[in-house]
Formats: sequence, C-alpha cells, structure tokens
Amino acid sequence: MPEKNIRMLDNALIQLQNVAEVLELDQWIHEMLKKPERVLIVSIPTHMDNGTTKVFTGYRCQYSTARGPAKGGIRYHPDVTLDEVIALSMLMTWKCALVGLPFGGGKGGVACNPKEMSENELRRMTRRFTAMILPLIGPDKDIPAPDVYTGPREMAWIMDTYSMLKGYSVPGVVTGKPLNIGGSLGRNIATGRGAAFVLFESLKHFGMSPSNVTCAIQGFGNAGSVAAKFLYKVGTKIIAVSDSKGAVYNKEGLNPKKLLEYKEKTGTVVGCEGCETISNAELLELECDVLIPAALENVITEENAANINAKIVLEVANGPTTVEADKIIYERGIFLVPDILANAGGVTVSYFEWVQSLTTWLWTKDEIITRLEKIMQRGFRDALTVAKEKELDMRTATQVLAVERVSDAIKTRGLFP
Ligand code: NAD
Repeated sequence: MPEKNIRMLDNALIQLQNVAEVLELDQWIHEMLKKPERVLIVSIPTHMDNGTTKVFTGYRCQYSTARGPAKGGIRYHPDVTLDEVIALSMLMTWKCALVGLPFGGGKGGVACNPKEMSENELRRMTRRFTAMILPLIGPDKDIPAPDVYTGPREMAWIMDTYSMLKGYSVPGVVTGKPLNIGGSLGRNIATGRGAAFVLFESLKHFGMSPSNVTCAIQGFGNAGSVAAKFLYKVGTKIIAVSDSKGAVYNKEGLNPKKLLEYKEKTGTVVGCEGCETISNAELLELECDVLIPAALENVITEENAANINAKIVLEVANGPTTVEADKIIYERGIFLVPDILANAGGVTVSYFEWVQSLTTWLWTKDEIITRLEKIMQRGFRDALTVAKEKELDMRTATQVLAVERVSDAIKTRGLFP
C-alpha cells in the first residue's frame, strides 16, 4: 500500500484529535467520527480489449450522513486504497459542513491505470463498478462526482447505468454530468472561481486589493488555470505558473490566456515567449503576495516552509501542506487558507447541480455565480470568526467549525436505536 495513503489517514485522525480537544467533543461523538459509517469493497471483472478479463478492486465509502446524503468524487488511479478513500471521505464530510451544504461526506475509487486503458475498457469497468455499488448510491443516499482521472464522460456512464437498472432516468444520482444530460452551468470552472472568491475575502481582511497583488500558481490544470484567469481579470499580477514539466516566471506578469493557448499547442507552459524558465521548487519560494499550490499534495514541507516568501497561501490543491510545514507557516505569520475552504467551490456547484436535477429547474449562469460567491464568502467569514474567537490558525478553525456542525447534527438526531 502506498505509504502516503496511510499517512493521509493518520494525519486526518491526528487533526480530528486536535479538534476534539479544542471543542471538548463528547467522547462518544469523537469515537463515532473516527470511523466511517459504511464502506463497500467490490470486485469489478472487466473484459479487456485483448480478450483477457481483469478483476479491478473498487471502493465506496460513506464517512458520515449526519448532515445529509453522502457526497464525494470517484477516483481512478493505481494508488487508490481503502485508507485513501476513507481519509478523503472524511475530508469531504468536513468540507461540506464548513460551507454549510446539506450533505455528509463520501468518496469512491477504483485501483486501475486509466492512462493504459481504452475508452471501451473504461466504459465496461465503470458500468460494472456502478452496478456493484448500486446498493449504496442514489440521489437521496450518496451522490458521486468526478475526481482524479474521472470526468463528465464517466459521470454520464454512471448516470445511465443507474437509470437503466432503475428503469427510469435519474440525473440526481451524480454531479459533474455533461450539460446535455442535466449538468450545471459553471460546474467545470467552479473550483477556480470559488478559490478566487475566497482569495478576495482574504485580501479584504488584510486591506489589500486584488488589483495590487502578485501571485504565483503551482499547477496550471483545471483548478489552477481557471483561478489564474479570474485573478488576471481583476488585475492581479500572475508572476509565475507551472505544470509537471516546470515553471515559467516574469516579474512584470503573465497572461493566462496566452499561456493556455501555448499549452494547448505544446502540452506545457514551459518555453512560452517572454518568460524565464524556473523549477517548480523555485516557484514555491518566489517573493509574492499570494502563493497558490494547485497541483499535488505534500509540496510545502518541513524542508521548504521556512523559505516560502508569500503573505497568503491559498490551498487550491488537496493537502499541499504537510502537518510539519503547517506549524512553520503559522509561526512565520503567513496566512494559510486551507484546502477544505479554498477548493470548496467545486462541491458547492455540485450541490447546485443536484438541486437542479431534483427539481428539474435549470438555473442561469448569473444565479450560479451569485449563489457561489455568497457561500464562499460566508464560509470564509465563519472560519475567520472562529479563528479570531478561539485564537486558532485557519486550518484548525475550519476543522473546528466543520466538526462542530457534524457533531451538532449527530446530537440533534440522537443515537439510534
Ligand atoms: P489537473 O489534472 O487538471 O491539473 C493538475 C496540474 O498540476 C496540471 O497542470 C499538471 O501539469 C500539474 N502538475 C502535475 N504534477 C506536477 C508537479 N510535479 N509539479 C507541478 N505541477 C504539476 O487537476 P485539477 O483538477 O486542476 O486539480 C488540481 C488539484 O486541485 C488537486 O489537488 C485536486 O484534488 C484539487 N481539486 C480540484 C478540484 C476540481 O474541481 N478540479 C476540486 C477540488 C480540489
């Protein structure tokens, strides 16, 4: 099992322990929150194109349904393990509670290498996986969404398989669907847009203006490049961006639209005209107002945390900062906006999509943007209030707020039987 997955679950449980102490959480609630409510492990026999049959292992975990149906993505990756799925479903529980969505938390995954599979193999595997987790999922039980290496195509297959087995169309069973079968406007750019809204609130808190700050972004994919576009639009100077091949830098500022056009042609931002090439490690240590890790987990570590040269770190990626680095960042007075807040725009617009699917009422783009902005602003202000009142860093404050909400829901409902 990849060591990082064991660490991820261990870290999540350590964080829960810290939060339980701050909140003086009832012992029985703490015990309940240490474990997922329900986990299903399934075998997924799949005919491969070469005539052989492979049996993949898949998981679906419902960590908590105290506040509503479970919600969380499905990941296709060779490193997927039960521990990883459990840890991610716990984080989904806190994320949904933090921004006040009426959802619990869930996650799923299949240990497979989608890069080595044909579209037909992926389709057969996805349909069989859906049939195997059918007892768990449903629009009022557990609603999957895209995650690493899954997207609208896989969501369409899941929605269709579920609907065929039920005998009628059930668009509310997944979010992140293509627009023509009930997807929501703005879902594909929701994480980047939501992150920009949270950053604007953070800057306001420090009396800074988005048009007067510099920003470096690690990762120029779906989340990072969209955030870059929204920031550029309001005048933020994007001084560096990167992808897996390296980073580009220009202290006078970069144009995200030009970088995207160049990346589309060449597959990377590296080499784009008018930029200096630097390494991903150098990007993280650049002097700037805002650093946005938007690529991988564990990139800000004990080794480089002392060299981070930003006033604000906005965690668009999931888990980019290690527990050890967190402490250093806080002690150095850098304001860190944690992942469960900074990247909650995606699940928020997933919630809008689910509501639209259940009510068969389509919202306009303006309605979606306005509602997203309000939810992200409220999430930030609620977390900041807790941070100030209890003298906590923002990471602990967001978790305290989220765990308290889940705990309150459990208490209000009472323990069955
Ligand atoms: P993506 O695959 O679209 O983009 C990832 C980017 O990171 C790419 O530009 C890739 O080249 C770059 N990258 C890969 N390895 C790198 C390395 N070693 N150094 C620097 N850059 C590297 O993925 P995404 O959807 O943008 O997700 C990025 C992060 O944001 C992930 O942690 C993901 O969990 C998180 N996130 C995304 C969403 C969403 O809606 N897309 C929602 C919540 C959280």
